Amino acid sequence: MGVSIERDGGVMVRVPHKAELNDIEKFIAEKRIWIYQKLARKKAVNSERPKREFVNGQGFLYLGRSYRLKFVDNSEIKSGRSSKAAPLRLWRGHFELAQSEKANARNHFVSWYKKQIKKQLKERVLRYDKRIGVTVKDIRISDLGHRWASCGRNGAINFNWRSVMAPVWVFDYILVHEMVHMSERGHTNRFWHLVARVIPDYEKHVRWLNENGADLDL
Ligand SMILES: [Zn+2]
Repeated sequence: MGVSIERDGGVMVRVPHKAELNDIEKFIAEKRIWIYQKLARKKAVNSERPKREFVNGQGFLYLGRSYRLKFVDNSEIKSGRSSKAAPLRLWRGHFELAQSEKANARNHFVSWYKKQIKKQLKERVLRYDKRIGVTVKDIRISDLGHRWASCGRNGAINFNWRSVMAPVWVFDYILVHEMVHMSERGHTNRFWHLVARVIPDYEKHVRWLNENGADLDL
């Protein structure tokens, strides 16, 4: 008899055809601690955050897609359309970062993400404000740690800059969630009913964030 843990976390027990059920159960009982240890380890590995390094070829997320980083000569970046071109840009399917800015790579990524969120939200708020019946007066982008967004007073919404790494349908859910909070502060039945009016399958979005949220980081 043998036992193994499969890639998906399933427990596989191999036994001879003629094995008695009692003996199989006894065998599994003896292996129980080993099985739980393996499963616990697997869970810990899966929950570890990927460490993104600022090196050539490393993928960075933007709206759910991964783009590889490519270091380029400063002169290449400067030859962009504007003379004050940013040191980091998403260009022809790659993130391009000036070689000389390697030490500041993280800062450049954070400011790039912040800029993109503002651009995205400017458009996307207009898709939902009339349907939800609220007016967004101010959008602030900051580091909210483990929260994706929060709803402030007086028509302000705070966004975590990491949220723009999520696929666009998840990003929209984060936005709709906060916009609905502008008319219903708590997670009441009415709140979820209002969310469902805009995003009927919102539970899928919530699940996606629970399962993949840890990956949305630098
Ligand atoms: Zn909420």
